Amino acid sequence: RLFNDLLTAKGNIKVCCRTRPLFQDEGPSVVEFPDEFTIRVNTGDDALTNVKKDYEFDRVYGPHVGQGDFFCDVQPFIQSAMDGYNVSIFAYGQTNSGKTHTMEGSSHDRGLYQRSFEELFDLSNSDSTSTSQYNFYVSAFELHNEQVQDLLAESGSSKLRVRMGPTDAVVELVQEKVGNPLDFSRVLKTALQNRGAESSKAIVSHLAITIHIQYSNWVTRENLYSKLSLVDLPGSECLLVEDATGDCVKDFLHVSKSLSALGDVLSSLTSKKETIPYENSRLMTILSDSLGDSSKTLLVVHVCPNAANLAKTLSVLNFSARAR
Ligand code: ADP
Ligand code: MG
Repeated sequence: RLFNDLLTAKGNIKVCCRTRPLFQDEGPSVVEFPDEFTIRVNTGDDALTNVKKDYEFDRVYGPHVGQGDFFCDVQPFIQSAMDGYNVSIFAYGQTNSGKTHTMEGSSHDRGLYQRSFEELFDLSNSDSTSTSQYNFYVSAFELHNEQVQDLLAESGSSKLRVRMGPTDAVVELVQEKVGNPLDFSRVLKTALQNRGAESSKAIVSHLAITIHIQYSNWVTRENLYSKLSLVDLPGSECLLVEDATGDCVKDFLHVSKSLSALGDVLSSLTSKKETIPYENSRLMTILSDSLGDSSKTLLVVHVCPNAANLAKTLSVLNFSARAR
């Protein structure tokens, strides 16, 4: 394991930063990695104004850290979900920074959705006995302009309804039973297909895949329930509402409100405020039982390494500084 010391002890919220590789024709990189906790950004626009600024995280991943090594550091969160905690993992960053790569990846370079389920499945196999058993269910929704769309509503067989969120803001979602990683892939594929191919919408909508974990022991009559929510957030450039034009303005305003609410909730939790402002956005309300004292949260902040995105990169890094 490359970074097996990460993400132990200290608090329930971790914030890490991942940088994608430079694309061809993007020019030189404006980020450096002086150590595994720091990203150094060259904020000067020429050699004369060579101003560098450091941002610290619980861990920083340079462009060459692959999906497998990245997952090694996420594994403790999966273990926590198995241990009965509600866990939430968010991919944050501007469009094209690598959020979907982290969450979904590709068939030959799988991301967190697949790897997390496989890990849960493996852990359950080594944990189950003749008197105890784990069951897994998946729900999936898209949130766009504060409206929830159930991505599994039309699908498959064994459906259950799951109520997410507190009683006054309940969202009812279909929950599909998944028995093994192949089942999970199939359900995930359905959810992603139902989200549709409209990539412009993906910029302004949230995608949440939740794996519900049910443990029962017939002898001790223990019944434990926990869940792992994996959220691909909308593009953080929507926070810069002044950049929006025409039809986008409403979308941007909703995203801006939602991402700000996420920042507010995380910073309130980190600074141990007495009241946490969950009710300021639909996403925070729905996930409120996965954000707080008895839960664990990982925010993966994604950064573009190129100069053209510098202003947005700085805004992303300043946001995450607030979340820590
Ligand atoms: P976002 O979801 O934030 O808009 P994507 O995940 O779609 O961004 O990433 C944009 C492009 O960069 C994609 O082509 C993706 O495959 C590539 N990419 C992102 N992160 C990485 C990475 N860590 N390693 C290799 N390619 C990456
Ligand atoms: Mg994406």
